[in-house]
Amino acid sequence: MAVTHLDADVTIVGAGFSGSLTALALRRLGYSVVLLERGRHPRFAIGESSTPLAGLLLEEFADRYDLPQLRPFSKWGTWQRAYPQVGCGLKRGFSFFRHDWDQPFADAGHERQLLVAASPHDAIADTHWYRPDFDEHLVGEAVALGATYFDDTTISTLHVEGDRGAVIEATRPAQAIRVTTRFVVDASGPRGFLHRTLALDERTPRWLPATQGLYTHFTGVTRWDDLNPPEARPPFPIDDAAVHHVFPGGWIWILRFSNGLTSAGAAVTDSLARELRFQEGEPAWRRLLSRLPSVQAQFAQARATRPFIHSPRVAFRSEAVVGPCWAMLPSAAGVIDPLLSTGFPLTLLGIGRLVDVLHQTWCQPGRAEALADYARQTQQELDATERLVAALYASMEDFALFKRVSLLYFAAASFSETVRRLGRPEDAPGFLLVGRPAFSAEFTACCDAAMAHQTGTARAALLTRIDAAIAPIDVAGLGDRGRRDWYPALADDLMRAAPRLGATAEELKALLERSGFDTPSREEILR
Ligand SMILES: Cc1cc2nc3c(=O)[nH]c(=O)nc-3n(C[C@H](O)[C@H](O)[C@H](O)COP(=O)(O)OP(=O)(O)OC[C@H]3O[C@@H](n4cnc5c(N)ncnc54)[C@H](O)[C@@H]3O)c2cc1C
Repeated sequence: MAVTHLDADVTIVGAGFSGSLTALALRRLGYSVVLLERGRHPRFAIGESSTPLAGLLLEEFADRYDLPQLRPFSKWGTWQRAYPQVGCGLKRGFSFFRHDWDQPFADAGHERQLLVAASPHDAIADTHWYRPDFDEHLVGEAVALGATYFDDTTISTLHVEGDRGAVIEATRPAQAIRVTTRFVVDASGPRGFLHRTLALDERTPRWLPATQGLYTHFTGVTRWDDLNPPEARPPFPIDDAAVHHVFPGGWIWILRFSNGLTSAGAAVTDSLARELRFQEGEPAWRRLLSRLPSVQAQFAQARATRPFIHSPRVAFRSEAVVGPCWAMLPSAAGVIDPLLSTGFPLTLLGIGRLVDVLHQTWCQPGRAEALADYARQTQQELDATERLVAALYASMEDFALFKRVSLLYFAAASFSETVRRLGRPEDAPGFLLVGRPAFSAEFTACCDAAMAHQTGTARAALLTRIDAAIAPIDVAGLGDRGRRDWYPALADDLMRAAPRLGATAEELKALLERSGFDTPSREEILR
């Protein structure tokens, strides 16, 4: 078989959205890029629900690398107008419902629910990315910009030649490839290419219990609000969201796409997965639903459109994130849990940082130090995410605490988004504000306390402490207990947060206008 010899500045392994975005940025900066993909697009991929911060990071990415064709993907309205053929779902916020085993869902007083709006109306709403379409589109963009793309590719060897680069040998149907490259970016997801090829150590999760996943796509999933009409007008249509059904030991996600498909799956602790025999796939899903009558009703007409995927271990962490001529994107270095949709923002932040490192140290000294710094930041953000998600798992039996812990995330994410939109990204250093010492210390302490299963006065003190941790960064009225855990997206909240943001009323009005906020007042929304 003839061997195709290639020379590339950077070789990227994995052509999911992260590999293609990295290729696009590097091409814009003038580097030659080879992109190697094991499979073939369009292909199924899990990880679908975006967030306001992820949308903003995508927008910033498009502006920074002069890729205006990507900007429409940052919001529902622009996506629908520019790319109606690329599937996605409407996400107005996060909906949580807490279930007891074998009990129909009922909740007059909002004790068992939490609704957090991410946007005031559909036009600027977030999206669920229908990955078969979205990832195929992005790889097409990368090819259009000059990335050399090979799909159906099996990499057989990787020779790392210190910091000089590496040689990759691979095969495709009727073709052998040999790539000589200065740098390798691993965008192949958790337990991916470099982890296996270099036999890297796995880092045992420190806080998170071992969990398993079971998921697929469905048709015919009934809307929750059709079966359980809310008693008043909620802050957003409950199902146009990432819907979470929480129960002791785990939770179910439901994400609706506009193409008639719905992504749904469960992440549960090992002991519950064993009890339900998750490895059996669909029968285990039915066993789980049989114990959650209201969720079962939601799936009464549903049909899986593809086989269930069982993930025997959801979380993954790699000990090493970088080497002399290679680096993993955050999504290859670790995955925690789908809870709170943290994968996209973590990955998007990492892509920006890694491209910066490569560009700033290309043929310049300081690469090793810059890569070490990238690795440290990646691990620090994955640690914070793991700690938060572990605190949420620990409080699934105490839903009032679960809700309050989740506000740590919503406060940090909305503050980060706002200061970035004000042009001050340095005020939101790192995902979950890991680089803001005061918040980060309280965040850590509150998560650790939630994991300690406190009761009585200690538990009450923890709720108060979470409120106090959030107060200095609250731009979304999250401290207002009068809202009974229904949080709309209100311009008034942002305006009231002006002192906390160090911004003037004029600056905030301009921000709202730029973002297309244009929302009715709280009274109008809640009427
Ligand atoms: C169950 C679950 C649900 C999740 N839900 C969410 C969510 O709702 N929101 C969110 O933000 N994050 C979520 N995540 C995280 C999310 O999946 C990731 O952040 C995201 O998929 C990363 O995209 P990626 O392009 O880096 O990797 P992937 O989507 O994993 O793509 C990797 C690509 O690399 C290819 N590849 C793998 N190995 C090789 C190889 N050896 N050679 C060549 N190619 C290779 C694969 O074929 C694939 O195309 C979830 C994670 C899990 C486990």
